[in-house]
Amino acid sequence: MNASTTTNFHPDEEGYYGRFGGAYIPEMLHRNVAELRSRYKELLEDPSFREEYAQLLRDYVGRPTPLFFAERLSRLHGTQVYLKREDLCHTGAHKINNTVGQILLAQRLGKKRIIAETGAGQHGVATATVCALKGIECIVYMGEKDMERQAPNVARMRMLGATVRPATSGSKTLKDATNEAIRDWIGHPHDTHYIIGSVVGPHPYPDLVARFQSVISAEVRRQLHERTGSELPTHVVACVGGGSNAAGAFYHFLDEPSVQIIAVEAAGHGVESGRSAATTRLGTEGILHGSRSLVMQTPDGQVVEPHSISAGLDYPGIGPLHAHLHASGRGQFLCVTDEDALNASFEVARLEGIIPALETGHAFAALRQLDLNEKDVVVVCLSGRGDKDLATYMSAMG
Ligand SMILES: *Cc1c(COP(=O)(O)O)cnc(C)c1O
Repeated sequence: MNASTTTNFHPDEEGYYGRFGGAYIPEMLHRNVAELRSRYKELLEDPSFREEYAQLLRDYVGRPTPLFFAERLSRLHGTQVYLKREDLCHTGAHKINNTVGQILLAQRLGKKRIIAETGAGQHGVATATVCALKGIECIVYMGEKDMERQAPNVARMRMLGATVRPATSGSKTLKDATNEAIRDWIGHPHDTHYIIGSVVGPHPYPDLVARFQSVISAEVRRQLHERTGSELPTHVVACVGGGSNAAGAFYHFLDEPSVQIIAVEAAGHGVESGRSAATTRLGTEGILHGSRSLVMQTPDGQVVEPHSISAGLDYPGIGPLHAHLHASGRGQFLCVTDEDALNASFEVARLEGIIPALETGHAFAALRQLDLNEKDVVVVCLSGRGDKDLATYMSAMG
C-alpha cells in the first residue's frame, strides 16, 4: 500500500477513503447529491454558519459536554479512564450534533422540507427536534415493525410535530425505511433535504456527518490538555453502528499515530451465531445505502438481517471511513456480545452512577479486551444515556 492510502483518513474529491466510499445512486438523485457536494464545504466554512452552529451547540445542545475522569472504573481496569459525556447532550445522545448542523445547512440551501429514516427512532427524534426548533416540515420514514417495537420514540417524534410514515414493504425495518426516504427524495428534488443520521450514504454524507460530529474530539483534545497537560490520550474507544459517534471521537486523532483508535462492534449472540452485527468480521465489500463499504451480505449480494441487543448497533454495514480504518490497520476493531455489553452497562451504573445506552455498553465491555496499564489515558465516548434501554435492563434484572 502506498503512503497516501495508509495515512490519509479524509476522503478524496469523489468521496473515497482508500477504496471505500463514493456515491452509488440512481440517476434521478444526481442533482440533489451534486448540489450538496458542490456546496457543503463552502457553507460549513461560512462565518455566519459557524457562528450559528457554535451558538446552538452551546445554548441548545449543551456543549461542551464534560470530560469526566471515571475514578472507580479506572481502578477496576488499572488505568486512567475518561468519559466523554455525549449522554448529556439535549435528547440524550450525540446524534443531535449532526442534525443541528444539517438543519442549518438545509436552511442555507433553501430547503423547506426535511426527510429522514430511522431504525430505533433515535435519529428520527433528533431530526424531529431540530425541525421543531426551526419550524420546518419533517417526515420520518420508519419500518412498520420498528414503529411497534419503538413506540415511545414514535410518540416523541409526533409530539415534536413530525409525521412518521410507516414503511410497509420487505422486512418492515430500517432498510425499507431507507428505500422509502430515497423514493421521497427523488420525488421532491428541489425543496427537500434528506438528513442522514450516521457516517453512511453517498458522498458527501459520510464526510459531512463526520465533520459535524468532530466537535467531540475537538473538545476532548482541549479538555484533556487542561487535565493532563497533553492533548493526546493513548486510546480512544467508541462503539460503531454506522460509525458517527466513533468518527467524531476519532476525527482529530486520526493523524496522531501515537493514539490507538479502538472501534467496537456488536457481536450479538456471538460472531459465528448468525445473530450478530459484527460487520468487519462478517462483511464483504459491497454497496450499501449509496457507498462502497463492508456489508453483511450473502454471496449473491442480499443484505443479511443483523442482530444486536442495542438498536443503534443493529446495522448491516459500517461507514466507508471505518472500512478504511479497518483495511489500513489504523483502527483496531473489537466485538462484544449482547451479554457482555449488558454486564458492562450494569457495572458502569454501579461504579460511576451513570446509566449508559446499551450501545455504549459495548465500548465499556471492550476495555477488558485491551492490555492497559496505569500510565495509559483512555477516552471512552459515552455516546448516549440508557433511559431508552430501561425495558431491556429491567428484563435483564429479572
Ligand atoms: C445511534 C446510536 C449509536 C450508533 O450510531 P453511530 O452512528 O455508530 O454512532 C450509538 N450510541 C447511541 C447512544 C446511539 O443513539
